[in-house]
Amino acid sequence: MDNKNFREKAHELVDWIADYYEEIRDYPVKPDVEPGEILASLPDEPPRNGEPFDQLFSDFKNAIVPGMTHWQHPRFMGYFPANTSYPSLLAEFLTAGLGAQCMSWLTSPAATELEEQVMEWLRRMIDLPEDMEGVIQDTASTSTLVALLMAREKVSNFDINENGYDSLESPLVIYTSEQTHSSIEKDAKIAGFGRRNVRKVGVDGNYAMDANQLQSAIREDRHRGNTPCCVVATLGTTGSTAIDPLDNISRICQEEGLWLHVDAAFAGTALLLPEKRDMIQGIESVDSFVFNPHKWMFTNFDCSAFFVKDTDHLRRVFSILPEYLKTGEDDNVKNYRDWGIQLGRRFRALKLWFVIRSFGVEGLRRRIRDHLEWTGDIRKKIENDPQFELLAPAPFNLLCFRLNPEANNDFKANELEEEEKRINRLNRELLNTIQEEGYAFLTHTTLDGKYTLRMVIGQTYVSRQDALDVWEYIRDKGKKLL
Ligand SMILES: *Cc1c(COP(=O)(O)O)cnc(C)c1O
Repeated sequence: MDNKNFREKAHELVDWIADYYEEIRDYPVKPDVEPGEILASLPDEPPRNGEPFDQLFSDFKNAIVPGMTHWQHPRFMGYFPANTSYPSLLAEFLTAGLGAQCMSWLTSPAATELEEQVMEWLRRMIDLPEDMEGVIQDTASTSTLVALLMAREKVSNFDINENGYDSLESPLVIYTSEQTHSSIEKDAKIAGFGRRNVRKVGVDGNYAMDANQLQSAIREDRHRGNTPCCVVATLGTTGSTAIDPLDNISRICQEEGLWLHVDAAFAGTALLLPEKRDMIQGIESVDSFVFNPHKWMFTNFDCSAFFVKDTDHLRRVFSILPEYLKTGEDDNVKNYRDWGIQLGRRFRALKLWFVIRSFGVEGLRRRIRDHLEWTGDIRKKIENDPQFELLAPAPFNLLCFRLNPEANNDFKANELEEEEKRINRLNRELLNTIQEEGYAFLTHTTLDGKYTLRMVIGQTYVSRQDALDVWEYIRDKGKKLL
């Protein structure tokens, strides 16, 4: 492929993408394929000689697209969104065009300094304390791993970095809630804490961490000779967007001298709204905080915003300086390779810059408020339907609910368990039907043993009508099952 050919094909691709977004509602959200079907359709051997681009593009359209789940489909309401937007898409294209590897200031001064500025914008936009500073990581899983490593080195006074875990006399313990994201346990395993040393603290009726139980768990560990190290609080749990009580938790962490990391991977975007900032009372004493613009802030995956208070500590945990990486400017500039795990870094700040400038802060807020408002509309419909029930509060744009023909009746105690099993089966069947048809995409969780449907209204270009259409569709499918 030469420059002339590239120019021509790039135009074709842009037209295809624009058409895709225009016609996306006509696609099934989820493909109708069996495991192995796509693989079997691909050639066994790589081509010996280069193929014309038209052939590649046509195979993309015919063999790949029909096997995709369409995350940018307005009726994709499963998991949490990983949304994008036109300005973000354009920035990704430019980033690919520049193809820069942004590990240090010298390797792309503009990428480093733009990241510094955009992260400062973001800090102000979500009202984090002035003494926090941000860096972009790939995912929340990585951001939390970085936080756990910082906590580990804080408590061990760099002994583990130096000598490994052998130097440790008692295990270091992490506290998080029963509803925490799976990445916390994974990170604890990778960082060497061990799964056994992750305490899953109980939750209240709203699935938020019970701070009293946290306090008791810490006391018990001290009593047993273990070393409490770190608390991970969640703002917006993955199951039901529960909000851990940050003010109480941060007070406990201060009294006990523990590292406090906040995982707001999804719901952090809601902090753009001043009316949603109650949930960060106590933020002044938080050590590290993560939220993902790549979930609900219209920025292509991957882009995780990680904020820390003590950046000297961060750099001390991660910095390395082999001869081949030394530059004359090291004392005067930021080298983000020392702010996390990987050496090589993508130029991720550009898409955030494009998104924030193109929407403007008020534009971002408007869209988020729309999502919250439409969620409230559907919530009322669920509450008013005698055969459906909400299973958790909906502080953001996630609805947790189920079909329950007996929603308004009291069960006799001895029938309860059988009845619950029957309702769980019914809802599993409902979700299977929805997923098979491909009109809309939802996922599930279990809350208190109840099979729970999750519906998130957060796709960038979703409309109120889409949300209503999906609710009516679910309701009709449900009633047909009864
Ligand atoms: C999605 C999510 C994560 C993981 O995010 P990645 O960026 O995919 O690693 C962690 N915590 C919470 C609360 C999440 O919702």
